[in-house]
Amino acid sequence: MSKKITIIGAGLVGSLLSIYLSKRGNKVSMYERRPDMRKAAMSAGRSINLALSDRGIKALEEVGIMEEIRKIAIPMHGRQMHLPDGSTPYQAYGKEGQFINSVSRGELNRKLIELAEANGVDIFFNQKCENIDWVNNEIHFAGTSGESTSTVESDLIFGTDGAYSAARLTHQLQHDRFQYEQFYIDFGYKELNIPAGKDGQFLLEKHALHIWPRGNYMMIALPNIDGSFTCTLFFPFEGEPSFKTLDSKEKVQSFFDEIFPDVASLMPTLKEDFFNNPTASLVTVKCFPWIREDKFALIGDAAHAIVPFFGQGMNCGFEDCSVLNSLIGKYEEDWTKILQEYQQLRKPDADAIADLAINNFVEMRDKVGDPKFLLQKKIEAHVSKKHPDKWIPAYSQVTFSPHIRYSEALKNGNSQQGIMEKVMAVPDIEDKWESEEVEKMILNMIATNE
Ligand SMILES: Cc1cc2nc3c(=O)[nH]c(=O)nc-3n(C[C@H](O)[C@H](O)[C@H](O)COP(=O)(O)OP(=O)(O)OC[C@H]3O[C@@H](n4cnc5c(N)ncnc54)[C@H](O)[C@@H]3O)c2cc1C
Repeated sequence: MSKKITIIGAGLVGSLLSIYLSKRGNKVSMYERRPDMRKAAMSAGRSINLALSDRGIKALEEVGIMEEIRKIAIPMHGRQMHLPDGSTPYQAYGKEGQFINSVSRGELNRKLIELAEANGVDIFFNQKCENIDWVNNEIHFAGTSGESTSTVESDLIFGTDGAYSAARLTHQLQHDRFQYEQFYIDFGYKELNIPAGKDGQFLLEKHALHIWPRGNYMMIALPNIDGSFTCTLFFPFEGEPSFKTLDSKEKVQSFFDEIFPDVASLMPTLKEDFFNNPTASLVTVKCFPWIREDKFALIGDAAHAIVPFFGQGMNCGFEDCSVLNSLIGKYEEDWTKILQEYQQLRKPDADAIADLAINNFVEMRDKVGDPKFLLQKKIEAHVSKKHPDKWIPAYSQVTFSPHIRYSEALKNGNSQQGIMEKVMAVPDIEDKWESEEVEKMILNMIATNE
């Protein structure tokens, strides 16, 4: 039976969700705090581009819009490292034909909103959710651009209003024993720009995600369709060096000239961008429950914000939509059952990808300069190349294997780590890591764990 559904937040996840629900014949309205982004410019400093990978693609394909999105995506087949010694080794992401995609957040969001409208969704902009009355199932919106307040009654409400969700807050404040955990890392990020060269030429390899690892901090760059690259500097808030110590244009320029010499000259507006663009923080949010009976659910970042070191936040939110959709099919519109199982399935997976993303951050921060860690990664790559069916790297499980749940990927990753701890304890492992003896040892442990 068709429901009157209200979605709070027309970001990436809300817009996709609205398409799924509208395609199923529901009367869907979506309310967004910001102005219509098809008319207004995107504000600077909010991850201009994102890596879209297989989980997200699967969801976009299910609603038949991936072909549209492919037109604005740039395939990235591997990582191009830019090391301090000036070398630029390239690592393919996975097997032949596996790649992730650089997509402009603004373009993707605009396309999803257009497609939502084309699918019959009513969208209201400049409407900020302020409160939800759970007894009457009414949402109160304040106009953010001179419009008056409005009250909207619905059968079913979805909170897709991001990491700092107002829907979550009102749910939380009026729910006994609501669990909430919020965790900031001591690193922030800042977006910078490498403009296109002459005639829209890409000044770095177009089909790669570029990484400048520098011990406890790093910069990455993703290509945009206009030939430019968006760089993101992940950097400590405090300490030496940090956002706090780079406090003048001169210091910024000399820092980049020294630390990122191969790109500093490609960033003509570096000093201005550094001080004009915001320094943003990175938060993990875990909470429970995500639902209320048959009438409310949190989806996307509103339910589970994660740090971006696996490139999975949006992909995970898109996967939420896909899982929810399959449950609507399974339970034929029995929303109590649908929401119960949605939460039951997705909560452990969201927790798992949150932990995987934090682990990746810790690895990046503490271990990339550690020779033992680098040797371990080399051994893992070697085993995976020789026995691709027995050792799928955690990155590939998360990025290219939507049939493997995030919670399984975490479990498998932990078990691989257990094996590697034993391997690294083998005396003189530096000299014999490619030997038959070590290979047999690893294969035996894999067989025992299976
Ligand atoms: C630096 C960085 C890099 C990232 N890189 C990647 C990546 O490579 N790959 C990936 O998959 N993910 C990535 N992510 C994560 C990704 O951006 C998020 O997971 C994704 O945007 C979540 O989508 P969402 O729709 O849930 O929330 P949002 O995109 O935050 O959308 C929420 C929407 O709700 C609106 N809203 C907020 N409050 C209200 C209110 N009170 N009333 C009405 N509307 C409201 C907002 O204006 C917004 O439009 C990255 C994140 C960051 C910070």
